[in-house]
Amino acid sequence: MTRCTVCGREAIFLRKYSGERLCKRCYINSIERKVEGTISRYRMFDPEDRIAVAVSGGKDSTSLLHILHKIEARFPRSELIAITINEGISGYRDEAINIARESCKRLGVEHVVTSFKELYGHGLDEIVRVADERNGLSPCSYCGVLRRRGLNVIARDVGADKLAMAFTLDDEVQTRLLNLIHGDVSRLGRVGPVLEGGSAGFIPRVKPLCEVPEREVVLYAFLKGIRFQTAQCPYRRRGLRNDIRAFLNRLETRHLGTKYTILRSFEKIAPIMRELAGKVELKKCRLCGEPTVSDVCKACQSLLELGLIDRPS
Ligand code: SF4
Ligand code: ZN
Repeated sequence: MTRCTVCGREAIFLRKYSGERLCKRCYINSIERKVEGTISRYRMFDPEDRIAVAVSGGKDSTSLLHILHKIEARFPRSELIAITINEGISGYRDEAINIARESCKRLGVEHVVTSFKELYGHGLDEIVRVADERNGLSPCSYCGVLRRRGLNVIARDVGADKLAMAFTLDDEVQTRLLNLIHGDVSRLGRVGPVLEGGSAGFIPRVKPLCEVPEREVVLYAFLKGIRFQTAQCPYRRRGLRNDIRAFLNRLETRHLGTKYTILRSFEKIAPIMRELAGKVELKKCRLCGEPTVSDVCKACQSLLELGLIDRPS
């Protein structure tokens, strides 16, 4: 029997890139400690923060909610509030929302649910139908932009100081490589574990899971008995991100620790990227008043292109 390198109990997991063998208890502790380390390394929270957590009901966000709830219990003046956005994807979203609701109830966390329909007047199914008729972009392009804006609106409405998003190490590395491949240097200088706020109503965004590999989050959820949605979104298609995901996973299998090394390298060059990109001033969207780097925010641009909002006169 293999022994846990921390306590000597029976090990259930070998963390190949570090050589640690861990039992169930030490594995759970190791994930929670890693998240705490990330939070303090990037100074993500203040002790009195009201923290909005974006909870979709998937493995990453539901695990993040549980971890933050445990950490936050030690800071009596801070508060957690969960936000769920129902995009309006029939046959898929209802289950996830029920799971998010159940988790919040069990943990005693206030839960705010809103929808694309309430925010924009149209659910994603309808938006996709219009986009298909007009040869528009992929469903994920609209979904991501509209969800980000919605989360910021609700986080601000509930008086949150920070918005915590469940981006794992995999998500973070994929995003940076995507920006690199797209030649988007300015965005490369802006992404990171913390996106500062402070102007034009932008709520600072933090990513406490950004140093935990996705597969370790799944195991954490499984070992903790956390329920999460396993069904995949019907709109999930093969795109560049999926190719990058497969490429990174192949690299990681053959060269342990690659994902961490890429993240650290990007972190080292981030200040140069920021300098190259120049200071980006956020302003308010001319149409909806939400923070944007251009005149009209991406969400309004998308809705305009689809004819789902009126052009300004
Ligand atoms: Fe939205 Fe795409 Fe995710 Fe589905 S897979 S929830 S469409 S971003
Ligand atoms: Zn706008």
